[in-house]
Amino acid sequence: MVRRVAVVGAGVSGLAATKCCLEEGLEPICFEQSEDVGGLWRYTDQAEEGRASIYRTVFTNSCKEMMCYPDFPFPDDHPNYMHNARVQHYICKYAEHFDLLRHVQFKTLVTKVKKRPDFSVTGQWEVVTQRDGKEETAVFDAVMVCSGHHVYPNLPLADFPGIQKFKGCYFHSREYKEPEKFRGKKVLVVGLGNSGCDIAVELSTVASQVYLSSRSGSWVMSRVWDNGYPWDMLVITRFRTWLGNILPRALSDWLYVRGMNRFFKHENFGLMPLNRTSRKEPVFNDDLPSRIACGVVVMKPNVKEFRETSVLFQDGTVQDDVDAVVFATGYSYSYPFMEDDSIIKSRDNQVTLYKGILPPLLEKPTMAVIGLVQSLGPIIPTVDLQCRWAVKVFQGRENLKQPLFFPSSLPQRYGSSTTLQTDYIAYMDELALAIGVKPNVLKLLLTDPWLALEVIFGPCSPYQFRLMGPGKWNGARKAILTQWDRTLQ
Ligand code: FAD
Repeated sequence: MVRRVAVVGAGVSGLAATKCCLEEGLEPICFEQSEDVGGLWRYTDQAEEGRASIYRTVFTNSCKEMMCYPDFPFPDDHPNYMHNARVQHYICKYAEHFDLLRHVQFKTLVTKVKKRPDFSVTGQWEVVTQRDGKEETAVFDAVMVCSGHHVYPNLPLADFPGIQKFKGCYFHSREYKEPEKFRGKKVLVVGLGNSGCDIAVELSTVASQVYLSSRSGSWVMSRVWDNGYPWDMLVITRFRTWLGNILPRALSDWLYVRGMNRFFKHENFGLMPLNRTSRKEPVFNDDLPSRIACGVVVMKPNVKEFRETSVLFQDGTVQDDVDAVVFATGYSYSYPFMEDDSIIKSRDNQVTLYKGILPPLLEKPTMAVIGLVQSLGPIIPTVDLQCRWAVKVFQGRENLKQPLFFPSSLPQRYGSSTTLQTDYIAYMDELALAIGVKPNVLKLLLTDPWLALEVIFGPCSPYQFRLMGPGKWNGARKAILTQWDRTLQ
């Protein structure tokens, strides 16, 4: 019988895990190495070891109605896209509201998680923690790994010949906080992900010139979509997902590319993705096209070679007098506390998890990895549902007889390199169905047609997954019917 659960980390995933354990009568202890909840969203001027680090001006890419916990909407007066400080405040309020803080042990680093000798019978884990230099070992019936995956920089310097000769400064985007010290400088940003674009745009307000180098391009989306509504409330709907699934592939790809090019033609801006029909996560940046149009950000292909003060690109062009390089080259997954990290990580940076949650090679399903999947959808509702599912598995209430290994079940259109990518609504529905909380649209059409129409055609907002079944939130119906009002407010 699983009772005691160790939760590693008190970011949005760890708090969801703690709450879901409590809802099911389990005893969670959440270990957080830093002094507060929030994880990535708790901004500090200096990057802290083992914790994600963001720049001062990070704003959300998901709007407030789509990225909240499904039973705890953001305050009505919050803007649709929020500064990190507001998200952090919200996370603290969530922890207070559900009385989670007394289950969190702060300033406690999990240093080791290993199977007990009798694991194949008990499924138990030994968890070693360190606090104030004191080490403690405790036994847990299950472990929920919520340690985040924007922590360990991926800095592939070997792919950049000559970098050792380069006399300017270079660093990973994890170290970037503010633009001021780059005033008047020429800066190269490598990588066209969300961080690379944000940093390039921000630097372009003070630097004398910014170059943005991209290997394979990317779709760049605007937060502000048709008629000024939040992109995610219009794009992430059940109806659109259904259409995408029934249309012939060629037509669906054509519509996708057309949609992505609706505000500007990516080709003309040097942004066109090499694989134009791949549904890999787009970049969200409202300002990048205009910064390129104004010439303050100049798009460049991949770097071929660094020289002492200049950079040679794949197209043969050379940029002289480059002062600094920011490598926005993403992150690697790492679980330094796992005695055997091949339990989670298979090879390279790849992770193979059953339903994106359970390490498949364990004799007993008593470990869950939360928050590792990526989709077009927001992370908070995803982790809430993952935790509810995982807790049911721990309790033996979820049938695991039909192995459906993630990500082999993923649609082809995500390509092979993006192992953690998934279709948001399909993934959420799969978990929701398994634990009996998927909205029953047919029943709703008969009993509550107005709500049904909003569920089908409106945004697939988090409240839908607390509308019925175990863990139902009584405010969900009202929250769905008033989501547009809060958006306008
Ligand atoms: P984290 O927030 O990283 O928290 C992990 C916690 O675990 C930390 O507090 C850390 O201190 C703790 N920890 C780690 N190891 C240990 C250990 N060994 N012992 C004890 N404690 C430990 N997602 C969205 O849905 N919408 C957005 O708009 C969005 N914007 C983003 C912007 C940026 C710049 C980045 C980098 C990511 C963004 N994301 C966004 C994704 C983001 O990863 C999630 O929103 C979310 O913060 C992940 O939460 P988490 O709890 O899984 O991990």
